Amino acid sequence: MRRHGHSAEFPPAGEALELWQEAAVDGDFEPVNGGNLYFQTTDDELPTLQGPVDEARRTGATGVRLLDADRTREIIPCATSPLRGAMRSPADAVCRPEKGTAYHVRRARDAGAHVAYGVEATRLLEADGQFTGVTTAAGTTHAPTVVVAAGVWTPYLAKTVGLRVSIMPVIVSEPETEPVEPLFTQAVRALGFGARQRPRATESSSPPGSTPRLPTRSRRQT
Ligand SMILES: Cc1cc2nc3c(=O)[nH]c(=O)nc-3n(C[C@H](O)[C@H](O)[C@H](O)COP(=O)(O)OP(=O)(O)OC[C@H]3O[C@@H](n4cnc5c(N)ncnc54)[C@H](O)[C@@H]3O)c2cc1C
Repeated sequence: MRRHGHSAEFPPAGEALELWQEAAVDGDFEPVNGGNLYFQTTDDELPTLQGPVDEARRTGATGVRLLDADRTREIIPCATSPLRGAMRSPADAVCRPEKGTAYHVRRARDAGAHVAYGVEATRLLEADGQFTGVTTAAGTTHAPTVVVAAGVWTPYLAKTVGLRVSIMPVIVSEPETEPVEPLFTQAVRALGFGARQRPRATESSSPPGSTPRLPTRSRRQT
C-alpha cells in the first residue's frame, strides 16, 4: 500500500490506506505502517528516485522526500553498507497479503456475499453498453454491477466485451528467509532488490513440513 508513484494512484491509494487502517482495528493481517525506503546506491539512480518525489510534489503531497545518507541511517541504523541516501515515502504500509484477503472474505461473507473459489470467469456479459453479468465455469450470474479484479489477467476478460485494458506486467521472485531478529519496520528497496520484515517473525508462511525453496533461476544466481 503505497502513496507514491503515478499521481493518478494517489487518491485511491490514500483512501485504501485509511480503509486498511480502520480494518486493522479488528483484523489480524500483520499491518506495519513503516513507510517505504528506496536506497540510492549510485549517482545514476538519483533521477529514478527524484521522479516519484517530483510527482508527489505536483499533487501537493509533501511527505515523499529524498534523504541524504546520514538521515537515512538515522531512520534505519542497520543499513550499514555504503549508500548515497534514499527516497522515503513515509505514509506507506504493508500487510500479510493472504491474511488481508482472508479478513475481507470473512467480512464479505458476514455481509451476505457468496464466495466461490476455483471458478473461472470466462466471459463478461453486456447489453446496450452496460455490464449485465458474467459467465463462469459454474454457470452464468446476472448482476447490475460487475467488478473485474483479475489482476494481470484483466485484459483477457475485458476482451470478451471488446474492451482493451493496457497493463504493464512486472515479474519478480519473492523468497522468504527463516525468522530473524527485528531489524527494521520500513519496506526497504533498492533498484533490483527489496525486503520487508514481518512484525512477528515466529511463523513461516510455508505449509508445515515443507522446505521453502527459491525458484530455480534465483538458486542459480546465488
Ligand atoms: C512478488 C510480488 C511482490 C509484490 N510486492 C508488493 C508490495 O510490496 N506492495 C504492493 O503494493 N504491491 C506489491 N505487489 C503487487 C501486488 O501484489 C498487486 O498489485 C496486487 O496483488 C494486485 O491485486 P489484484 O487484486 O488487483 O490482483 P491479483 O492479486 O493478481 O488477483 C487477481 C485474482 O484474479 C484471479 N483471476 C484471474 N483471472 C480470472 C478468471 N478468468 N476467473 C476467475 N479468477 C481469475 C487470479 O487467480 C487472482 O487470484 C507485488 C507483486 C508481486 C508478484
